[in-house]
Amino acid sequence: MSEHHDCTDCKRIFEKLSEYIDQELDQEECLVFEEHIRNCRPCLEFLETLHSTIKLSKQLDTQETYRIPRDVSLKLHEFLKKECKLL
Ligand SMILES: [Zn+2]
Repeated sequence: MSEHHDCTDCKRIFEKLSEYIDQELDQEECLVFEEHIRNCRPCLEFLETLHSTIKLSKQLDTQETYRIPRDVSLKLHEFLKKECKLL
């Protein structure tokens, strides 16, 4: 059984990912974000990967504001491409 996966939603989620991580989203956006993550396994897995990356980078340098590293955003684009092909 596979549920329909809407890539448009995922793209929107990913566009807000850095804001979410920096806790810049307002409460409503945050809820929408978390709701999507809960129902979307690829997004959840991606977020978890990102979280561990962030943890690492924060351990290295606590002073700097976190930014999504380039290779992570490349992975994200690959992921989205793959997801869309699957549909
Ligand atoms: Zn998603």
